[in-house]
Amino acid sequence: MCGIIGVSGVPDAARLAYLGLYSLQHRGQESAGIVAVDGAGVARSHRGMGLVGEVFTEQVLAGLPGDVAIGHTRYSTAGTSVLANAQPVLARYREGPLALGHNGNLTNAAQLRTDLVAKGSIFQTSSDSEVLVHLIARSEAREPEDQLMDAFERVEGAYSLVITVGRTLYAIVDSRGFRPLWLGRLGGGQGHVVVSETCALDLIGATPVRELQPGEFLRIHDGAVDQLPALPAKPHRRCIFELVYFSRPDSTIFGRSVDKVRRALGRELAREHPAPGADCVFSVPDSSNAMALGFAEEAGIKLEHALIRNHYVGRTFIHPAQAVRNSKVKIKFNPVREVLLGRNVVVVDDSLVRGTTSQGLVQMIRQAGAAQVHFRVASPPITGPCYYGIDTPSRDELIASSNSVEQIRQHLGVETLGYLSLEGMLRAAGGDPAQFCHACFSGQYPTAIPDDLTASRHAAPLVTAVSV
Ligand code: AMP
Repeated sequence: MCGIIGVSGVPDAARLAYLGLYSLQHRGQESAGIVAVDGAGVARSHRGMGLVGEVFTEQVLAGLPGDVAIGHTRYSTAGTSVLANAQPVLARYREGPLALGHNGNLTNAAQLRTDLVAKGSIFQTSSDSEVLVHLIARSEAREPEDQLMDAFERVEGAYSLVITVGRTLYAIVDSRGFRPLWLGRLGGGQGHVVVSETCALDLIGATPVRELQPGEFLRIHDGAVDQLPALPAKPHRRCIFELVYFSRPDSTIFGRSVDKVRRALGRELAREHPAPGADCVFSVPDSSNAMALGFAEEAGIKLEHALIRNHYVGRTFIHPAQAVRNSKVKIKFNPVREVLLGRNVVVVDDSLVRGTTSQGLVQMIRQAGAAQVHFRVASPPITGPCYYGIDTPSRDELIASSNSVEQIRQHLGVETLGYLSLEGMLRAAGGDPAQFCHACFSGQYPTAIPDDLTASRHAAPLVTAVSV
C-alpha cells in the first residue's frame, strides 16, 4: 500500500511534501521518496528505505529546491522491498523529466511488461508502476495529457496517481476509484496539493477543496486547476478495507468520516453478535478503537483499556526466536491485569487476517486472568487476497480461506467468536453498497485476475541497487 502527495505553486514544495508524508506514514513504512522540480524544470529526487523521518534530513531537503513536488510512502504489494522499487519513479523522456507516485496495484502489469520487453523496453525495477512510465513514453500522441491517457486506457486495476511532467502536476484516479485522493488549496490560492487522505491536508494547513471522483484527471499548473476529460467510465468500486482498516480515523474518504464508519461497524457488530453478561469491552489498539466504542455504546457494556500498545516498535525488530514465546505480540502489546482479572471480556478487532496476532493476544489476555474471552471482528472473514493494493497474504495464509468460524474459534481459544456479516459491513459504510470493492471478503473481484498475478506480486528485483 502507499501514500501519495503532490504539491504545486508553493516555495519549498519538497518541505511541504515531507510534512504531508508524515501523516501518510501509516500507508507505507518500507520506503519514502520525494521528487522536486525547480523553476527551470530541473527535477531532483531522493528516495530511501525506511520511515519518512529516517529518509529525509535537513540537508537532503535543502537539496530538493522548487515549487512543484511529489512524494510517496511505500509498502510493497507488487515488486520486492528494495530501494530500486522505492517511489516516486523519475525518468527523462521527450517532454522533460517525468515523475510518478502510484497508490494501488495494476492487475495486467505482468502482461503489459512482457509485451513492452518484447518491443525492446528496458525495465529498471520490478514494480508495476514502471509499466505506466513506459506506456506514457511510448505513446504516439503529441500532448503530454494524451500520452498519459493512452497509458491509462491500457492499464487495468487500481491507481491513484500524482505525476509531474516538467513543471505540470497531474492527479488521476482510476475509473473504479479503488483508492482515495483529495485536492486541497494552500495559502492565498496559488498553491495546490493532492493527498491520499485528508489527515495530510490537516497537517500541512491546506483547505480541503474536494475529493477526486473515480476516473478524474486533473492538471495543476501555475495556480490553475483544470479538469481534463475523464477516463472511460466504469462502475465505481471504492475499497471498503480503506474504511475498515487502512485509512486513518481522522480522515474523510469516499465522502465519509472514517471514524463514523468504524463506530457504525462496531454498532452493527454488537447487534449481530452481542455478548450478554460480559463485564467489559475493549479494542486492539489503535486500529479497532472506534469499533470497540461503537460496540460498547450499542451493547451497553463498559468500554475499558485492557491492552496497551507500544508505539515505539520499529520495523527492524529482530525476532529473538525461541527466547520469548509470542515475542512479536508481546513487544507490541501488554495487558492491564487489573482490568482483566476474573472478568468476562469482549475483544473487538477490526479484521482477522492470518489469525496469528489474535491467537497470541488471546493467550496474553487469558494469562492476565480473564475468565471468559469473547472475540468480535468488525468485518467479515477475509477469504481472498487483494489484487488492488492492500498487502494481504496469499490465499493459503488467510485463516478464513480454509477454516470455518468454529475452527477459527478453536484456533484462537475463545468462548465465542463473531464476525460482522458482509451486509452489516455495507450497512455501516452507508450509501449504495454497489459502489464498494469487497473482493477480499466476498470473492467478487471487479476486474479479471490473470493467472500469473499471484506469482508476480513479489517478483524478484531486476536490479538490486540504484543510487539516490
Ligand atoms: P492476525 O491475527 O494475524 O490475523 O492479525 C490481525 C490484525 O492485523 C488486525 O488487528 C488488523 O488490524 C491487522 N491487519 C489487517 N490487515 C492488515 C494488513 N494488510 N497489514 C497489516 N496488518 C493488518
